[in-house]
Parts: sequence; structure tokens; C-alpha cells
Amino acid sequence: MPACGKSKLARLERVDTVSTMIETSFDVNTRTTLNQLGERVLGGGQILRAEAEWIFELTATPDVYDLMAWANRIRERFKGNKIHLCSIVNAKAGACSENCRFCAQSSFYQTGSPRYGFVDPEPVLEASEEAQRNGVTALGLVAAWKGLSEGPILDEVCERIREVSEGGKVRADASLGIIKNQSVATRLKEAGLQCYGHNLESSKRFFSNHCTTHSYEDRIETIRLLKNAGIKICSGGIIGMGETRADRCDLAFSLREAGASVVPINILNPIPGTPFETMPPLPPIEILQTIACFRFILPRQEIMIAGGRTANLRDMQSMVFMAGASALMVGNYLTTMNQSVEKDLQMLKDLGLDPNWEDHDFSDSQSCDRSRSQG
Ligand code: SF4
Repeated sequence: MPACGKSKLARLERVDTVSTMIETSFDVNTRTTLNQLGERVLGGGQILRAEAEWIFELTATPDVYDLMAWANRIRERFKGNKIHLCSIVNAKAGACSENCRFCAQSSFYQTGSPRYGFVDPEPVLEASEEAQRNGVTALGLVAAWKGLSEGPILDEVCERIREVSEGGKVRADASLGIIKNQSVATRLKEAGLQCYGHNLESSKRFFSNHCTTHSYEDRIETIRLLKNAGIKICSGGIIGMGETRADRCDLAFSLREAGASVVPINILNPIPGTPFETMPPLPPIEILQTIACFRFILPRQEIMIAGGRTANLRDMQSMVFMAGASALMVGNYLTTMNQSVEKDLQMLKDLGLDPNWEDHDFSDSQSCDRSRSQG
């Protein structure tokens, strides 16, 4: 097993390398350890908790670039050059009863975010047509409320899902909050829902720092009920809320344990009027490092870069794929603007990546190896 404790790292020899242009240095033992971890994950093995903590704690930029290079290889091994694209449509906006401190749609904060009730069929069908035109695989119906229970709203939700599913233009996904009854999950499945978005948001330890109106356990239980119904899980979190690197590591392991197939990473985009409005932004290199660490821990899952990427990464957005990301949320987010879909598609084309994934198959099984299956 590679040496990976901080105390061991402190004793490591540093080696200077000089190029004609710049002088840099790297830690030869760190490089060896990264090579060993990378080879193991590429070979189908798993990274251990202590090893994952160590890669999250790397701080020297050359080490982070090494980490990213391995994460990129792992992405290529398990995902090939396919990039999974998702879009969302806000099916019910604002006035949410929950107090998530990052969210413009919470009724606890004055943000000027739009408010409307559950949408009619037309805007959803238009969104699915637009998504198909853009080569997007899935459209998620997202609602700003605490959750979903049996009743007339569930009937309406199922009707919208059925319309998208039977329309055949995109996969019908949804993110509709907390579910407490198996019957609700089963009805969503019967309506044609394939994947449900339900972020854990952060580590169990950090959760009460951003939400107190529902619990981390409520979210875990929702995921359990959805999985019981045969629905795939899209679950990730938000970074940049003041959590530690160890919290991010916990989140990645919790998502592995919860069986998430798609793992969105959102980067806090502080919304004026919310308690997090003055939160300092994460350095872009730390964001890329987080993505790379998630790829090491979740080698076969879709790691999707979602909200906050344009605001936080700016010109470094294209580097998310070199850090191991394999999916992208395109189009506008719920309350903030994204760069245009055309620009995203051009970025993928320039990188030699293929967004056309009509038969996206949630290929997170142990047997998946895209690079081999593509010859
Ligand atoms: S994140 Fe979701 S549950 Fe939390 S306040 Fe916003 S809309 Fe409501």
C-alpha cells in the first residue's frame, strides 16, 4: 500500500526540475504514490479512505496537475470520449419552505427570484424539444418545494413526466425533493421517470451548516425509496460553502455508498440576499482538484459539472474534463445564467469529446470499460 499519511509526506525529498521556460518542483514520492493509486483505480481497484483524504489535501500545484492527469486517464478508461449532457426546467419556482442557505428560491431570504406554481405541459414540451436540438440526453423537471406526497400535485407531476417520456425526445428525469412513501417513488417510476436528482449537498457532519428544515437522513431515505422503485440516482453536492476538504471526501464516499449513478458537482455562486452571499470563492485549481478526487473515488459514475461553473471557473471551464468530469449541465440553471449551449458544444468539439450519447446507459457497473469496449 502506498505511503499516504501527511506525516510521511512531510519527510519526502523534493526534486527540482528545470525546463527552458520555467522552473518548477515536484515531490518524487508524491508522484510515485499518485502513480500507484492511479494504476490501481485504472485496473478496477478502489481507493481507500485514508488515500482519498491524502489526495484531497495535496496543495502543490504540480501535484494537483499530476492528480488531474490520472483522473483524466480514469475518465477515458471508464467513459471513453463520451460526455453526457443534461438540462433542467424549473417546473415550480420560488417560495420554497426550506431554508437551504445557498438557495435563491428559499422563502426565508429576499432574493428577487421568480415565483410560480407547477407548470403547464407546453413549457416542458418546448424545453424537451430544445434539449433534443442541443443533443442533450436528459431533461430534469425541478421543483422548489420540500417534497412530494400522494395527492393532486403528484398526479400532475406524473402527467408531465409521462408527456416527456412518451414524447421520446429526451430521457425524463426529475428533482422533486424529499419522498417519504414507497408508493410515491413507484408512481414516478410507472410514469416513465428514469433518474431522480437528489443531492446530499455536503457531508453529514456539515449538513446543518446549510440547512436545518430537513435532515441529511431525510435525503438518504429518499434515495433508498427511489432505488427500491428501480429509479437511477443523480446525487452530488455543492462545494464552496465553507466545508473542509475532509467534508468533500466524506461526501464522495457517501455518494459511492448511496449508489449514485450521476454525481453533479455544483460550485457555490453566492446569491445576494442569501446567508452565503459573502462567501469567498474557491480557487479554480481547488475546484479542479475536487473533481479529480471525485473521479478517483467514483471511477465509473458520471461526474457532472453543474451550477456555478461559469462564474467560478471562467476560462478554465474546459479543464473540468481533464480533471475527470464526464458530464455537463447545459442551458441555464434554476436561478443563474450559464454560458450558451452553443459555446459548450464548441468547447466539447474543440476538446475532441463527443456529446452525442442518445443511448446513455448509466454505465456505472463494475464491468464497464469504455476504452476497451470501443477498441
Ligand atoms: S435547495 Fe431545494 S429544498 Fe432547498 S430551499 Fe432551494 S428549492 Fe427549497
